[in-house]
Amino acid sequence: MTMRIDVISAVPDSLTSPLNTSILKRAQDRKKVEIYVHNLRDYAYDKHKQIDDKPFGGGPGMLLKPEPFFECIEKLLDQRKYDHIIFPTPGGRFYDQKLANKFSLANNIMIIAGHYKGIDDRVRQKFATDEISIGNYVLTGGEIAALVIIDSVVRLIPGVLNDSESALNDSLMDGDIIEAPYYTRPAVYRGMEVPEVLRSGNEKKLRRGKKSSRKF
Ligand code: SAM
Repeated sequence: MTMRIDVISAVPDSLTSPLNTSILKRAQDRKKVEIYVHNLRDYAYDKHKQIDDKPFGGGPGMLLKPEPFFECIEKLLDQRKYDHIIFPTPGGRFYDQKLANKFSLANNIMIIAGHYKGIDDRVRQKFATDEISIGNYVLTGGEIAALVIIDSVVRLIPGVLNDSESALNDSLMDGDIIEAPYYTRPAVYRGMEVPEVLRSGNEKKLRRGKKSSRKF
């Protein structure tokens, strides 16, 4: 089964390059995931193709209007069922590896990216199943958060990473365990030595040397 991810964005171009580079590109080439980016403006049916408006109650900044989101989301929902409709927002649940693991089991995921001051809250109320924050700071738009979610989820789909890059022993896949630092040749560089335990080739010792706990 190929996972499908739909992203709705007011600035779709900002997603093009990252979604078509490196492992995300490979995942799509290998048919492990299909990623569709929908331009919110294509669903603005008034003659000015307006997607934003001033917020009720005043205040600076513009809000993304509800109608283009409703049109686009309802069209997608008519075509298939979504396991998760994710709204990235600074007020959401903190994103972590456990959530990435959960999302990686989905067949269909939709991500609604906010922009400017955000989106009309009726979109969130009506459709969002998962409100996700990627950290305690404010981004200019949900696109970067969408990329964080997509990248962390897609690399977990079996067959996306090669065996040698397996995600299973990555940091945070086993509770709070963080991988210890890696080294490659040369064994000594500018007087800095690779730890003996990693050079010994003793597999048991080596694995123990690979575990450490969070530094901060
Ligand atoms: N006015 C909003 C507020 O104060 O909460 C911030 C809007 S922000 C400039 C525009 C969009 O970026 C948001 O609608 C959301 O989709 C996204 N965003 C910003 N910070 C985020 C974060 N920490 N995690 C996830 N998404 C975020």
